[in-house]
Amino acid sequence: MATEQDILQYPAPKKPPRLTSRRIGIHTSTAGGVQNAAERAYRLGCNTLQIFSSSPRRWAPYELSSVQCSEMSRLRTKYDLKPLAIHTNYLVNLASSSEIFLKQSMQAFRGEVERALALCAEYLVLHPGSFRGADREQGLLRTAAAIAASTGGLDLAKGKLTILIENTAGSEFSLGGSFEQVAELVDRLRGIVPVGACIDTCHTHVAGYDVVTEDGLYDTLRQLDSVIGLNQVKVWHCNDAKAARGSKLDRHQHIGKGTIGKQAFRILVNDPRLAHAAFIAETPIDKPGDDKRNVDALKRLVM
Ligand SMILES: [Zn+2]
Ligand SMILES: [Zn+2]
Repeated sequence: MATEQDILQYPAPKKPPRLTSRRIGIHTSTAGGVQNAAERAYRLGCNTLQIFSSSPRRWAPYELSSVQCSEMSRLRTKYDLKPLAIHTNYLVNLASSSEIFLKQSMQAFRGEVERALALCAEYLVLHPGSFRGADREQGLLRTAAAIAASTGGLDLAKGKLTILIENTAGSEFSLGGSFEQVAELVDRLRGIVPVGACIDTCHTHVAGYDVVTEDGLYDTLRQLDSVIGLNQVKVWHCNDAKAARGSKLDRHQHIGKGTIGKQAFRILVNDPRLAHAAFIAETPIDKPGDDKRNVDALKRLVM
């Protein structure tokens, strides 16, 4: 029989883990029930976390019980885990030019918002979608309209839930490969839903921005500030990259072990203009313990 420790992967720490002045966490498994992610995140030494609220590559509708949701809230309060970010299912494409696929995506996205509200999550992270079969502008308009339509009647502001548009690696048909495209969507959604941005370091790097050299990173932050506004970036996905700058290849790597390197993360987690944001890794788990090692690597950079 599996013990609690097997299920949660790490033993309960003897004393509370050392936390930093920054919110640092990692995308955490919900195996055994969504509420287990909170206990896992605590044992990994996090003070924020990201989860999927349903199976990330399946359409099946998914209901959370009120017991699971209240247990999640209880553990988050107990361990001071905030914010809670939920990452939308990968299949959802709100820019789809296929009517059937768009309808399915909108239904699934509504479910994502409902579950995020039930879990009292602060953020729901969304990739803006793929516009294959149309042009980029049509894709952006379609995504904005689909978000508006699929959240109809749901009070996100009351639940203190904000939708975060994530920048992407900028592959051929994907929206969000530049800060301008993220900003355009954020601007269109303002007044419809509470909205902000999530910036992924790996996506930014492979989309062509310089995040490696110190001057380059500060210039990239200047661009981000003027196009989106640093205060609008509520979550940073902290991922090193396997691929080269500008390659458009989205392959995440362990912090400090990729083509970005440690210095970029040191600058980001210590920049006072980003102190309000959560820094969440979505790094691979190639061998047991990689999740904890990546959380520790980020925490060690906080001065
Ligand atoms: Zn990401
Ligand atoms: Zn990615």
